[in-house]
Amino acid sequence: MKVYDHELENWFRLRTEIKAPALTSKQLSLIDLKAKSLLKQTQSHIILHNFQSVCLILTLLITDIFVFSLEGTFGLMTMTFMHGFILYSLTVYTMHEGAGHKRIILGSSFFIKKLAFIVNNVSRLFFADPTFYARNHPSHHQHLASKEDKAFTQLVDPKRIFKSMLPGAGIFEFNDYKIHSGDDWTLSKIASLVIGLLYSSLLLLVAHKNHNPIHLVLILLIVSPWISFTLDRLRESTEHLMMRSDDLPEAREIGNSFWGYLIGGGPWGQPCHLSHHFAPALPWYQQLRLSAYIKEVLTADQRSYFFVGDGLIDYPKMFFSLMKQNSAIFRGQA
Ligand SMILES: [Zn+2]
Repeated sequence: MKVYDHELENWFRLRTEIKAPALTSKQLSLIDLKAKSLLKQTQSHIILHNFQSVCLILTLLITDIFVFSLEGTFGLMTMTFMHGFILYSLTVYTMHEGAGHKRIILGSSFFIKKLAFIVNNVSRLFFADPTFYARNHPSHHQHLASKEDKAFTQLVDPKRIFKSMLPGAGIFEFNDYKIHSGDDWTLSKIASLVIGLLYSSLLLLVAHKNHNPIHLVLILLIVSPWISFTLDRLRESTEHLMMRSDDLPEAREIGNSFWGYLIGGGPWGQPCHLSHHFAPALPWYQQLRLSAYIKEVLTADQRSYFFVGDGLIDYPKMFFSLMKQNSAIFRGQA
């Protein structure tokens, strides 16, 4: 992710004008206690935690392969959208919670370490580079919204966001608004390209008897990755844009909702980013529980500031309003 000086400067100028609701020390201590108790619960059920992680990943992978066995136009459309969503869902889950936070497989035995290594590299099936991500993501938590944050998105020129939603933006270098892979051709990036092509070839093999191979190649290399990457860019653009707070992490919660699960890449993706920043060691299912608890503890005003509403038009409304505000800031600037 490129971080530009004019975006940082604009943000530091603007952030003082944003009025964020304050939390009481009682609210903060209740949220803190809840996060600690949820973490303790996971730590005392490590085998169950690892079991659900493996089942989840296998289910998503099997579903991905299965949809490529479907026939006809319905099959073609289903595989395009399902592959796009699963590609995104498995990438955001295994790259972020796996490679980035090492929370998908817990434990330290020899077998567990090998399993964690495999799981944390699943996103390579979809051309992502988990090594690059793991190197950059810690800065996002340690230096959120500052110059050192390598995923700074508090204020981003809308042109960069729109460009990142064009077909091919996930792989081509015209896009400087991405974090799943760097621009340099490292060994790790080449490994992801090779593994991604091998997995795409497997899906091509499953589907080639029922469909035109040219259509399949277009789906595998252009259309599904486009769906996937657009969802990913919508998510990351929503999590921090114009967010400031003195008490909670400067992140926005899409939350337990239709939009949270779609834009977040499933409940196991990243629908609850505020909860995640508050307690990064929590696995996805505990983040959902912490999110529900934070919602309960906040007042209506605080909720409307930190949470995107649950209604069907709340997410699009908020996204377009953020884009409009952002466009006004960058209008006329280089
Ligand atoms: Zn994180």
